[in-house]
Amino acid sequence: MWQIEKSGRGVAGQTVVIITVLFFLFGIIVGSFLNVCITRIPEDISIVSPGSRCPRCMTPIKPYDNVPVFAWLWLRGKCRACGSAISPMYPLIELATGLLFVAAFLEFGVTQTTVKWLFFTCLILILTVTDLRVRLLPDVVNRPGFAAGLLFSAFVPPDHGLAGFLMWRFLQLRMPGFAAGILDGILGAAFGSFLLWGLAAGYKAVRGHEGMGMGDVKMMAMIGAFLGLRGTFLTLLVGSFLGSVIGIGVILALYLGGWRSEVAKRASRLGLGTERHLRWTIARRYQLPLGTFLGIGALAIVYGGPVIAGYWPSLRGIVP
Ligand SMILES: [Zn+2]
Repeated sequence: MWQIEKSGRGVAGQTVVIITVLFFLFGIIVGSFLNVCITRIPEDISIVSPGSRCPRCMTPIKPYDNVPVFAWLWLRGKCRACGSAISPMYPLIELATGLLFVAAFLEFGVTQTTVKWLFFTCLILILTVTDLRVRLLPDVVNRPGFAAGLLFSAFVPPDHGLAGFLMWRFLQLRMPGFAAGILDGILGAAFGSFLLWGLAAGYKAVRGHEGMGMGDVKMMAMIGAFLGLRGTFLTLLVGSFLGSVIGIGVILALYLGGWRSEVAKRASRLGLGTERHLRWTIARRYQLPLGTFLGIGALAIVYGGPVIAGYWPSLRGIVP
């Protein structure tokens, strides 16, 4: 484990620039693999073979047309063989991965901590985008992700881990670091998933339909295994705040934009209520991607926490 002096000048400064560029390039290459996972996992297709092909004309994509971010730019977002549009989702996810990899290096250096958060970032990116696209949080990501989270927490315990503190405070038991890390991951997973599960049950009782699925509960267990008790609590706070604010905005926009208004019109003619009321009912039932908000919340805690603590040291301990 070694750390690079961040604010160095001269040779050290150049080294930082070179490593930053390397992290970015590594990030966009990993991002291109995440795109494969995002498009293929929900379809149950192998993520290894066949190689990348155009989803429209099925022509295999040449290696030089498969360069992350840049290929999309020089192809101007169109397939070379059939000319059909390639979604800007691909270069955007590659770019986001590259930038998050750079953020991980700048915040955590070249350390085991960086490896942990890079791995976590990849899992979260797959889940966040998959939930946004198809409202799915696949088990094949959540389950191994949960196991990996506990393993990583043994080597890199969650920041401000509460498990060791609680064990000492209540049981006068001094735990070795790796055990405290794993226990904190388990406590985070249990707290996050039970709270979400309780909220889901409450929501169903009040609204009469499912507001979130078991996928969200399992995703929260995975996040808890990486972040521990405190980080899980903060992720739920940020995630549910984002979900409420953006969710209300989306539902209002759907209502005002006349989303599925012809359905409301037909139902209104059948005497099921006023058109306005029916339009509002339909907009309110729009399924929001809760996993996407939780994922953004978790990344905000991992990457934003140290920055906030750096600017406002008095918040250290509150933010991780
Ligand atoms: Zn094509």
